Amino acid sequence: MKIVAIRETTVALSAPIRNADISFDAMTASAVAIVTDRMEGGRPLIGIGFDSIGRYGHGGLLRERFMPRLLAADPQDYASAAGDGIDPLRAWSVMMRNEKAGGHGDRAGAVGVLDAALWDLVAKAERKPLWRVLADRFNAGHALERVPAYASGGHYREGDEAAAIEAELRGYRERGHRRFKIKIGGGLIERDFIRVEAALRVAGTGAALAVDSNGIADRAAAFARMNELAHYRLAWFEEPCDPLDFATYHALSEADLLPIGTGENIFSAADTRNLLRYGGLKPERDFLQMDISLAYGVPEYLRIVEALEAAGWSRKRLMPHAGHLFSFHVVAGLGLGSHEAAGDEGLIFGGYPEGVTVEDGHVRPWDTPGVGFERKANLFRVFEPLLA
Ligand code: MG
Repeated sequence: MKIVAIRETTVALSAPIRNADISFDAMTASAVAIVTDRMEGGRPLIGIGFDSIGRYGHGGLLRERFMPRLLAADPQDYASAAGDGIDPLRAWSVMMRNEKAGGHGDRAGAVGVLDAALWDLVAKAERKPLWRVLADRFNAGHALERVPAYASGGHYREGDEAAAIEAELRGYRERGHRRFKIKIGGGLIERDFIRVEAALRVAGTGAALAVDSNGIADRAAAFARMNELAHYRLAWFEEPCDPLDFATYHALSEADLLPIGTGENIFSAADTRNLLRYGGLKPERDFLQMDISLAYGVPEYLRIVEALEAAGWSRKRLMPHAGHLFSFHVVAGLGLGSHEAAGDEGLIFGGYPEGVTVEDGHVRPWDTPGVGFERKANLFRVFEPLLA
């Protein structure tokens, strides 16, 4: 199978929300379509991929480096073992030709969104849902029958924040969610108390609520905030300090105030190993949230999982950041701990395909071939110009 065209576009997400660190007013994401010479029902077989959220679109890197490399490659260089398909692991090596080790920044997301489209393509070629392809290839055929999910939201907005958080989380609970995460750290600690207590009116217990301060605090502020919130016995405190400040992570971990979640801004297996060496995190207490599509896609995520398992971490401690429908398939197919869901299906990166429901905090994997973007109308609409 030969890749004959790759199309990309930048999508404005423009959501009127912010966390403690950034605003989403001007946030963008890339959508890509990889077109092949394989014809199915009179149309070319096409794989589609959508960026994860929070690091902007990757159009420049895609157009200048990674799309041209795939298009210029000999199809034998990315052919599957049987010779009639595409192997995304081999295509990954083609994309990474002449890229130096280290310095994993936005290129990791550019490669990741193309990798996502390649997996959609492979699953469609096999007429299987992606979770099944990943389970068969990388998890001895074992996929989760019900995927634990949690509703992520509680951003900063204009207006009465306690009422807004309570109403938002009640909406997620009505949709079937039982565990929640909200943003904190964007103001004084008194504001965090108001936000957490509003969320607890819906979550019921601290064990069903996580908080995320998006890495803005210095060491002293991180200690102070975690200490003030410890009595709520929350499920985890996410990014309490700068994501690369491993010494502060180590000290917070030693203090043992709350479980720690981090990893969404760690983009490689090499950086994961450093986090494990120097961050002092504990496999029996903490959670790791490397974002599959922002960290070079499935090939690098498999290396991340390998590094974590070698260090004694269970896959049940892995809860990939964002990534929407694509990351759901990876969680289901590799048997990971939980899927982060943006609970509002009105957002293009929120909710699940039409007809897929959340039942008591769990989601059953769906059977549509590929990722299933075609079953989520507001998201699929962004791909339509790429498919004409
Ligand atoms: Mg986060």
